[in-house]
Amino acid sequence: MSRKLDALVVGAGFGGLHMLHRLKQLGLDVKAVEAGDSVGGTWFWNRYPGARCDFESHDYSYSFDSDLQNEWVWSERYPSQPEILRYLNHVADRFDLRSSIQLQTRVTAARYDEELAQWSVTTEGNETFIARYLIMATGALSLPQIPAFPGIDTFSGSWYHTANWPTSKVDFTGKRVAVVGTGSSGVQVVSQIAPDAEHLFVMQRTAAFVVPAHNRPLDAERDALVKASYDGFRQRALDSFLGLHFDTELNPAVDTPEPERTAAYERRWEIGGAALLAAFPDLLTNTDSNDTLATFLRAKIEEIVDDPATAKTLTPQGFPVGAKRLIVDSEYYSTFNRSNVDVVDISTSPIRRITETGIETADGHYEVDVIVFATGFDALTGPLLNIDITGKSQTQLKDRWAAGPTTYLGLSVSDFPNMFVVAGPGSPSVLSNVVRCTELNVEWIAQFIEHMSDNGITAAEASPEAENQWVHHVNELSTATIFPTANSWYLGANIPGKPRVFMPYAGGIPAYRQTCSDVASSGYTGFQLTH
Ligand code: NAP
Repeated sequence: MSRKLDALVVGAGFGGLHMLHRLKQLGLDVKAVEAGDSVGGTWFWNRYPGARCDFESHDYSYSFDSDLQNEWVWSERYPSQPEILRYLNHVADRFDLRSSIQLQTRVTAARYDEELAQWSVTTEGNETFIARYLIMATGALSLPQIPAFPGIDTFSGSWYHTANWPTSKVDFTGKRVAVVGTGSSGVQVVSQIAPDAEHLFVMQRTAAFVVPAHNRPLDAERDALVKASYDGFRQRALDSFLGLHFDTELNPAVDTPEPERTAAYERRWEIGGAALLAAFPDLLTNTDSNDTLATFLRAKIEEIVDDPATAKTLTPQGFPVGAKRLIVDSEYYSTFNRSNVDVVDISTSPIRRITETGIETADGHYEVDVIVFATGFDALTGPLLNIDITGKSQTQLKDRWAAGPTTYLGLSVSDFPNMFVVAGPGSPSVLSNVVRCTELNVEWIAQFIEHMSDNGITAAEASPEAENQWVHHVNELSTATIFPTANSWYLGANIPGKPRVFMPYAGGIPAYRQTCSDVASSGYTGFQLTH
């Protein structure tokens, strides 16, 4: 049996919940389906110890409803995973969304019927939904990747991936533990496990730049200050490249005299968070400038880590700061001063296999009871290509994207009419405060759908020309930055066989917002509209 709808939203995280709310406001018959047991998306699945957002609470929250943002009180400077999950559950209740959300429902396929101008969407449980509009709010970082290490089935201990963490507490007390991966998730989990574990081996393939968060309870004064002028606060975020509140020096780093430059870095090191990456206007575009920040951060590692050999292993080399996501955590480097923690350099001696009792690398065997894989995600394209999506003329998304993702504005793909993507490849998504990007996308999609319905438009898709131009523009923007110069997940470099294409839009939130707004106000230039 199939259920007929006006719109189907896939995913009930930040993007999906907001999209559902907006389409309900438009009076559409709409449903959201969500694979998890709860709403929350990435914040439902990533419940590993220490999981916390690295953007400040007020920034990492919805702006679309004035009462919501004024009522909600964040408890810490950076929101923890449980608090964000509570917030998203509150949003689901507050806007009466739950009756329109079907949980534990994983979409497996979507097929467009050209004649009827509608999508037929199938789930793992063999349900079918028919909908005119299909909105993919599947998240950029929602398909975990576990490397194919041989022997994992023979391991007699327990193993976990950070992005699929059990709901019950995992007790590390007295256990020998290995954490594989030192990205944002690995770094956060390491400092939490270390105090409990008998011994912790941190298996590092690439050393990461980590800056302190300086998390603390959110003081009432700060909360009141933001709430007193929330509109201005939101506007400043939208006017900034990253969609965040960072203070940037006027002159480029390379033109700033050394003592002044270091003082600027020191100030931001004390402030905490990703502010360091925005310290100077040219850090993301000029490698010489970026080197000055890298040098500053390397010196900090040497200062914090007692053992010089360990400090050396933990010191990132060979890529600019920020080209792989800058990591925010307070106790990571000092954790290596504990006698029960070792960093294992698996770049020089890679993991060969998992054995019954631990991990075998090229230079030894590490006996462990627990393995934590913090090995990341098949980012941006993975969650979409994990669904068998077929558009017009039997075009399959996996074929269309075989050489890398192609979109128009990150929102639409030619030959896939009436399918919209929230925070997809080709949008600023992961290169920005993703909540700002999802809100821009959701509002834009809602307005487009309203326009279509007001004007008798039955189908809309990106034209191949507009899509090509956008892909070209996205590529061009990235080559003017330091981003493509590291083996990062932004480029798909973490997934064997994935095409090496820089996927996000690197032009910043203001330019992206302006372009999307111009497209809308010009009657949706670049879209083929069928009446
Ligand atoms: P990640 O950044 O992709 O890190 C994965 C780690 O696993 C890297 O150190 C990687 O090494 C390593 N790895 C992957 N495959 C491996 C293999 N076959 N053998 C050995 N090591 C391997 O993933 P993540 O830490 O989950 O973070 C992903 C993104 O999620 C972040 O960049 C961020 O955007 C978001 N996130 C945010 C927060 C936060 O807000 N605080 C927390 C968690 C995640 P290489 O570097 O050599 O590839």
